Amino acid sequence: MQSDIERILIDRSRIADRVAEIARQITEDFTADGDHNDGAEITLVPILTGSIIFVADLIRLLPIRMQIRLVSITSYPGTATSSRGASIQKELTNLPDDLTGRHVLVIDDILDSGNTLKLIKDTLAARNPDSVRTCVLLRKQRPEAMACPVDYVCFDIPDEFVVGYGLDYNDYYRNLPEIVTLKRELIVEASEGSDT
Ligand code: 5GP
Ligand code: MG
Repeated sequence: MQSDIERILIDRSRIADRVAEIARQITEDFTADGDHNDGAEITLVPILTGSIIFVADLIRLLPIRMQIRLVSITSYPGTATSSRGASIQKELTNLPDDLTGRHVLVIDDILDSGNTLKLIKDTLAARNPDSVRTCVLLRKQRPEAMACPVDYVCFDIPDEFVVGYGLDYNDYYRNLPEIVTLKRELIVEASEGSDT
């Protein structure tokens, strides 16, 4: 696995430092907000599967009462390295139909075309939450991503295909502790595969 890496973009200590910083910011925003006193709570919505490692690290730094509801969205099937259009996978999703009174925080691994965040925001809006905020680990420096409104971004990265720290290629490499690029010869565009 290590020999498949072309370059380490963000190492584990930079990830840890930045996740801690974002956690402090989220805690401050959610607890300073008039609607978020000590009794208030949030509904955290991780987008499967790419956000799992980020979410696991982040939530342990959030001293906020929370429920976690999962949404699975497919956009990069299998060996694809560009978005094929986002769609929700119902069998891995347990979002309540009614979110009245809830403050929602959506967490995704990476903002690329913006299709995933747009889809989740539309899906949530139909369920009447009190508020929706969004947080991504990575944002690619391309116009579509930069134009997509998002509340928290850990890192802006170049417009390259990355894996590690939860992000996959054909469902591999999620367990790499760093965010890396892969050697070019390993990346073959195809069509079928798994969720992202
Ligand atoms: P968007 O819908 O914004 O185009 O893309 C969001 C989803 O596409 C992410 O949640 C992620 O699953 C996948 N994705 C986008 N860029 C990359 C990338 O560079 N590497 C990997 N592994 N997945 C990506
Ligand atoms: Mg994803």
